[in-house]
Amino acid sequence: MSDAYTLLAADGAARAGVVHTAHGDVPTPAFMPVGTKATVKTVDPDELRALGTTILLGNTYHLHFRPGEDLIAELGGLHRFMAWDGPILTDSGGFQVFSLRDTIAAVDDDGVTFRSVYDGALARFTPESVARCQSQLGSDIAMCLDICAPVEVSRSELEEAVRRTTLWATRQRAVPRAEGQLLFGIAQGASDQELRRRSIAELTELDFDGYALGGLAIGEERPLMFETTAWAAKLLPETKPRYFMGIGDPEGVLEVIERGVDMFDCVLPTRTARTGSALTWEGRLNLRNAAFARDARPLDDSCSCPACTRFTRAYIRHLINQQELLGLRLLSLHNLRFLLELTANARVAIEQGRFAAFKAEALGRLAAAAA
Ligand SMILES: [Zn+2]
Repeated sequence: MSDAYTLLAADGAARAGVVHTAHGDVPTPAFMPVGTKATVKTVDPDELRALGTTILLGNTYHLHFRPGEDLIAELGGLHRFMAWDGPILTDSGGFQVFSLRDTIAAVDDDGVTFRSVYDGALARFTPESVARCQSQLGSDIAMCLDICAPVEVSRSELEEAVRRTTLWATRQRAVPRAEGQLLFGIAQGASDQELRRRSIAELTELDFDGYALGGLAIGEERPLMFETTAWAAKLLPETKPRYFMGIGDPEGVLEVIERGVDMFDCVLPTRTARTGSALTWEGRLNLRNAAFARDARPLDDSCSCPACTRFTRAYIRHLINQQELLGLRLLSLHNLRFLLELTANARVAIEQGRFAAFKAEALGRLAAAAA
């Protein structure tokens, strides 16, 4: 496959680079805000751009059911539909299917049958169907259909998930894609050395544009997750982007960047906003707390987001307590900016060969806030 990635600098295992997509270059490490239903909840695409977003994630599962990929294709594709002209990565929908385990009716070598969360109707995903769906959406990066086994699964079931993930990746690799669309393979195998190595070896043999580490951050112990990331990332080709699926807490982001991860996504910034909390260098602030009633400071002194440059904690607390939509929006803008800025600063630190010091200082500040 084509060269979708340029490595610009390495500092230890940490990497600074660029992912080249049909809708522009993505400087890495890159945090991808999640636009589940073709929107990052409450945030306008122009605001996302201003916050420093370089690539968005869309969820194939949700878009497939509502409003449907054919309708989106008819209206010019996902970029035009949601008025975001930058890069978009779509997942395959597999993670939603396999994490909503109660909805699964049957899994076989051909695909998975499940009940839609929207209306309970039986639906089926195969490597071919999710490839077609992502082609219709016209995303810049499509993901392979994989099986993310739950953390408590038996080894034989984990092995079966790895086997089917490779089988499906092989089939999806052969399906025509939208023009310029990249395709990433997803390695499974949890923290099992042999199975994770096998999965990575089989997928890299297929030669994808990039590789994701799936099946992590699903409930296993954090030290084990980081240890697995470290040795698994080393097994991936240096010339391809590496995507850690589903991490977005400030500490976790720094840990995976240090271990050689280039891209990551998480709903944490916007989900945290919906609980009335702000990510700051003083730790997570729960704005519902009475302590903020007369607090005239911004959420975070060092933040340049539209919330921090104009509004006080007291005002945002008032909005949250009155369930005003602006409160939710301001917290979302701030939390996204916090992670995007952290990631951008990590990139600069890697380029300057001082990532270890940068990470130590950032973790120190976050730990002090938590104490
Ligand atoms: Zn802010």
